[in-house]
Amino acid sequence: MDLVRERAVRAALFAHLDSVAAIADSREMPWDQTGSFTFAGERFTVRQERGRGINKPKNLEAALSITTAYTPVGQRPPYDDPVGVDGFQRYHYEGSDPEHFTNRALRACFTYSLPLVYFVGVARALYAAIYPIYVVADDPKKAEVTLSSIEISTDANIDPVMRQYAQTLTRRRIHQSLFRADVLRAYESQCAICRIRHRTLLDAAHIIPDSRPEGDPVVPNGIALCKIHHRAYDANYIGIRPDGQVRVRADILDEHDGPMLRHGFQEMHGVQMLTPRREEQRPDPLRLEERFAEFLDASQAGSN
Ligand SMILES: [Zn+2]
Repeated sequence: MDLVRERAVRAALFAHLDSVAAIADSREMPWDQTGSFTFAGERFTVRQERGRGINKPKNLEAALSITTAYTPVGQRPPYDDPVGVDGFQRYHYEGSDPEHFTNRALRACFTYSLPLVYFVGVARALYAAIYPIYVVADDPKKAEVTLSSIEISTDANIDPVMRQYAQTLTRRRIHQSLFRADVLRAYESQCAICRIRHRTLLDAAHIIPDSRPEGDPVVPNGIALCKIHHRAYDANYIGIRPDGQVRVRADILDEHDGPMLRHGFQEMHGVQMLTPRREEQRPDPLRLEERFAEFLDASQAGSN
């Protein structure tokens, strides 16, 4: 196997996906923009045409990507790729024959430490691209491999601190990539403050910022907000009380300006935020309380 070439194609693919993500301002990628890419004058298939599967481009020896299909809410996934008892994400072979060419191509990623892209369906024809992902173990008996964001041995003798770090990092990378989709789905693609319904204008805002240890990328720490309300929430122009009532900073309530300030901010003062139907997806009141205290502090400290 030409490992230099295999690695060069992967590095180019990650750079290509970085640029797609930068344009879209998201790691969620439309299916029609990730079919293939060109490197050194050669075209490579980036992912499977079908919803789920292992992609081994015909001009490479090892798999370049794996995909988990989008499953509409309430439907059972055709395959279940669970987290193993060791805390690492698993991915099932295609079928049960370990010698099938796609499964061999996936095993080659393990043998030669070649990173790949993990596409996870987050909505119809929309996929989160998680990369680099390493195959760190192969279990032909169970017909599955183990995935990790960093190269690490899953050997039982490995330093437990390092193992814990790899598990946490992998989970975080996967969850971060899925956070926006999970939050937008919970809020049915609507800003929780102004109700605007255009997905391209929406973000998944963190209640507790992800730079802090308790700022997990989980739905109860998220709120779907349009871009302007997201910025305003992060900058403490707007606060959300633990009971879900929206508050606008006093000096902004007193300001005189155009329609955006009037309708977008002043009229939002006192409205009840929109919350997800499912209770376990609603904002965590303790996190809201902690965050609202910061809003009050910032309000007292004055405007900027
Ligand atoms: Zn809004």
